[in-house]
Amino acid sequence: MKLILLGPPGAGKGTQAELISKKLNIPHISTGDILRESIRNNTSLGEQAKKIMDQGNLVSDEIILGIIKERVSLRDCKDGFLFDGFPRTIGQADGLKKLNIDINLVIEISLPEETIISRMSGRRIHPPSGRSYHIKFNPPKIDGKDDETGQDLIQRDDDKPETVLARLEVYKKQTDPLIDYYLNLQKNSDLKFIKINGANSPQEVSEEIFRSFE
Ligand code: AMP
Repeated sequence: MKLILLGPPGAGKGTQAELISKKLNIPHISTGDILRESIRNNTSLGEQAKKIMDQGNLVSDEIILGIIKERVSLRDCKDGFLFDGFPRTIGQADGLKKLNIDINLVIEISLPEETIISRMSGRRIHPPSGRSYHIKFNPPKIDGKDDETGQDLIQRDDDKPETVLARLEVYKKQTDPLIDYYLNLQKNSDLKFIKINGANSPQEVSEEIFRSFE
């Protein structure tokens, strides 16, 4: 199964992606996590990406498609995968088609703008695994620590208030049009599109998503 999780920043895509990837036993491919790992490893890609990410802008389609092409060629992707945070532009979605990757299911997790802002400011992540928590809505078992490793959680630089609004604008302009793009594709292909209310609890959201697999 090849899936895309679509939705604004803070909608809970990362949390749901972890659950779906365990349930379906397919890799969770987050372009944001891959870029953050490059930054931690001080690669030249990381260096280029950091400035762009800190401003809340998007890394170029060319770079992102290069990352995806390499990642999906790995063996663990042979039975499918879940994209989280990709595609983010029409150019990336077209690029995906050119790679002959046929998506089976697009899940849109929607959320009103006011909720997005409060969600992003409370988000904490565990950088090595990409696991994400929310101080109020999805807290870790021990304050400030990852549930599985006990390591420290951090707030992403781009979740700080000055960047959140810029990311939202970028989402509205560049990523939101993908909803119509995939709704149209659904009419002419086997692709299925479902929309889920991301304002519900993480458990309710995942139950709704899992029901759509039945
Ligand atoms: P995320 O963790 O998905 O919220 O991504 C964090 C940041 O990484 C974004 O704000 C972008 O700067 C960059 N990024 C992640 N995925 C993409 C993508 N598919 N296209 C362009 N930029 C991306």
